[in-house]
Amino acid sequence: MKLIQENEAPADGKARQAIKPVICYPPDTLPPVDRQMLNKARQAMQLIETVTVPPRDAATFEVPAGHFFRIVSSIGAQVGDLNLWSKHNLDERFYTGKTRALHGTHLSTGDRMWSSMPYIRPMATISHDTLDWYGFDEFGGSVHDVIGTRCDPYTGYLLQGDHYHYCCHSNLTRALGDYLGGDMARAETLVHDVLNVFMCTGFTQDTHQYFMKASPVRPGDFIEFFAEIDLVGGLSACPGGDCSSEHSSDHASCYPLIIEIYRPEDGTLDGWQSPAVNGYDGSHGR
Ligand SMILES: [Zn+2]
Repeated sequence: MKLIQENEAPADGKARQAIKPVICYPPDTLPPVDRQMLNKARQAMQLIETVTVPPRDAATFEVPAGHFFRIVSSIGAQVGDLNLWSKHNLDERFYTGKTRALHGTHLSTGDRMWSSMPYIRPMATISHDTLDWYGFDEFGGSVHDVIGTRCDPYTGYLLQGDHYHYCCHSNLTRALGDYLGGDMARAETLVHDVLNVFMCTGFTQDTHQYFMKASPVRPGDFIEFFAEIDLVGGLSACPGGDCSSEHSSDHASCYPLIIEIYRPEDGTLDGWQSPAVNGYDGSHGR
């Protein structure tokens, strides 16, 4: 937190601090998102499946490449923790760190969810976000972050000394374990850092600590994704509810989240191809 300063600034300290930053990964040379094509495809799409995620629990779902899925707020403000895996290789999973480096701390329309090394490719593209109006508030907060991790019982134990089983990490582990036919041990190794859907978060301006505040999501709001590859998703309805006060407990009001899967009309994705895995030759110079 940088609270301890035991060293004097050097004579040129102010000058070093005054150097202007440069963007680490300008995204201009990434494969472009064809929003015109996506908007055409999403206008004519048909709902083919609905999955309900119960409060303080998680569910898995499959989305074929070239389909859309929505995460919809149902009867009350609720935050969701989203994991994505490649259906044909669960070791290829969503990589929050690189997604954050490429698109910033919070995602919205036009941003992509990138997969882990050595596969790094787009897994999903955000095609619509009814909370895009929120932007960043006066505290530096926004929705749909890739800066948190997921609430988990291990950190809960470190901080509170209790055994709480309905954190998003445990919810996702149980749901993926069921998907794998009961292999909870393998499932736990595959659960990863999440997209915090609808959660409103940021870093405090003084100590730059991770904060949360009541989600601005309301029933009917949704975030929509275009599946770039065949996906398995996992979504946990966080025990924090709208995350206005606490998580990792049964105190907050929690509500279901709805996943809707849509098939676009034939012909609306002509010319589109599912992206191949990363083209780096993998030799690392040897
Ligand atoms: Zn959670």
